[in-house]
Amino acid sequence: MPAQTVNTPLRSPVIVALDYPSARPALELVQRLQPGLCRLKVGKELFTRSGPSLVEELQQRGFEVFLDLKYHDIPTTVAAAVRAAAELGVWMVNVHAGGGRRMMEAAAASLQGFANRPLLIAVTVLTSMSEDDLRELGYSQTPEQRVQALAALAADSGLDGVVCSAREAPLLRRQQGAGFCLVTPGIRLAGDDAGDQRRVLTPADAVAAGADYLVIGRSITGAEDPLAALRRVHAELGIAT
Ligand code: C5P
Repeated sequence: MPAQTVNTPLRSPVIVALDYPSARPALELVQRLQPGLCRLKVGKELFTRSGPSLVEELQQRGFEVFLDLKYHDIPTTVAAAVRAAAELGVWMVNVHAGGGRRMMEAAAASLQGFANRPLLIAVTVLTSMSEDDLRELGYSQTPEQRVQALAALAADSGLDGVVCSAREAPLLRRQQGAGFCLVTPGIRLAGDDAGDQRRVLTPADAVAAGADYLVIGRSITGAEDPLAALRRVHAELGIAT
């Protein structure tokens, strides 16, 4: 099977997490990938250091970018930030569902009128938060109940989906139905080190659990041959590349 080119529709659910301190190592990794085969995630550290010009560079190289800045502020500020992300041309952007209905509705409204608007998704409960952490913040719900409630609020506020652990995916898929986008980190190829992730699933397990997109960092970025690791993910998912 020939490799997909930039012009073919991207069938891969893989979003490679560019968890690098600066543009240089990020671009070195990107050099070894192909835009027809994956998307890229730019998070807080890389964006804070290298900014919109790096996102533009990645997009010029043909990659679609998930800008993972998890906005959480007053509605006007978040709406303006989401609009700025859309003007930058990113494919996906996110906010904290904990910012509430008015914040999320303002963010969704700010994207109206964009011909190619980014997907707008929400973070529900950070997977680093335990039940005790939530209680200390004054919440009586279990993390699972809170994830469900915030996902429902995100959907009701006009968002396209949520970031969630693959463990939560079946529940959220049942609750929100087929059109709701589920983006799941915590993925490891069989045999890879889990690192600091507590619960990891294989790509096939995550897709079977209902994930639409898989955020994968170290299993690809830490591999001797990142493109081969990406192709192993595709092979596991039955995607010919
Ligand atoms: O290297 P690894 O595959 O663990 O990277 C996962 C990526 O997904 C990182 O960028 C991490 O910040 C992000 N993430 C996560 N867990 C969440 C939300 C985001 O691992 N709950």
